[in-house]
Amino acid sequence: TEKLLLKSEKMALLGQMAAGIAHEIRNPLTSIKGFIQLFKSNHLQEEYYNIVLSELDRINAIVGEFLVLSKPSASIFVEKDLNELIKDVITLMSTQSILNNVQIFSEVDSDLPMICCEEAQLKQVFLNLFKNAIEAMPDGGNIYLKMKGNEKGTIVIQVIDEGVGIPPERIPTLGEPFYTTKEKGTGLGLMTCYKIIETHKGQLSIHSEVNRGTTIEIVIPTMTQPLLKREFV
Ligand code: ADP
Ligand code: MG
Repeated sequence: TEKLLLKSEKMALLGQMAAGIAHEIRNPLTSIKGFIQLFKSNHLQEEYYNIVLSELDRINAIVGEFLVLSKPSASIFVEKDLNELIKDVITLMSTQSILNNVQIFSEVDSDLPMICCEEAQLKQVFLNLFKNAIEAMPDGGNIYLKMKGNEKGTIVIQVIDEGVGIPPERIPTLGEPFYTTKEKGTGLGLMTCYKIIETHKGQLSIHSEVNRGTTIEIVIPTMTQPLLKREFV
C-alpha cells in the first residue's frame, strides 16, 4: 500500500503541475495572440515585436524546464569526476557570468572521490544554481563553489553567492512549482534541482540572509557501487 500511495501522490503532483503549466503558458499565449491581431490591422509597432519575442522566450523557458522535470523514466548513472563536471558547467556559464560582472571561484578537495550520477541532470542542477546566483547579484559579485568529500561516503557541495538573499519566511516556498520573484522567471529551476538531487539520494538545503547572500548546500552520496539504471520519477 505504501507504494500505491506514493504513486497516487505522484499522479496528484503531476496533475497539479500540468494545471500550473497550462496556466503559465496561457498568459503569454494570450498576449501574443493580442499582438498578432494587431499585426493584422497593421498597427503593430516595433516594441510589440519585442514583447511577442520575449513572451515566446518565456514559453520556451517553461517548456524547457518542464522537459527536464519529465525526462524519460530511466536514466543512466555513470561514475564521474565532479571536478570535471563542474568545469564544463562553468564554461557553459562563462558568457553569462562575464556579461553580469560575476566571477566564479571554486575550491575543491584535491582528492575528491568519484561520484555515481546522471551527468546531464547533475549539470542541470549546477546550471540552475549558478543562474540563480548570477540573477541575485544585479551589480555583479562573486560566486564561491566549494566541494569536499568526507569519511561518511558523501560529498558536500556549496554554491555561495553575495546576492540579495531570501527572507526566511520565503525559504519553505522555494522549490514549489512556479514560485518566482523575477519578471522573466519560471519558478521551476529550484524544483528541478530538488528533484534531481532526490534522484541521487542526496539532500539540498538553503541558507540565506537578506542583502548578504545565499548558500545552497547539497550533500550527495558517492555511491561506490555503480548503478546502471534507476527509476527517475
Ligand atoms: P526562477 O529563477 O525562474 O525565479 P527558481 O526556482 O530558480 O525560479 O527560483 C525561485 C525563486 O527563488 C527565485 O525567483 C528567487 O526569488 C529565489 N532564489 C533562488 N535562488 C536564489 C538566490 N541564489 N538568491 C536569491 N534568491 C534566490
Ligand atoms: Mg532560476
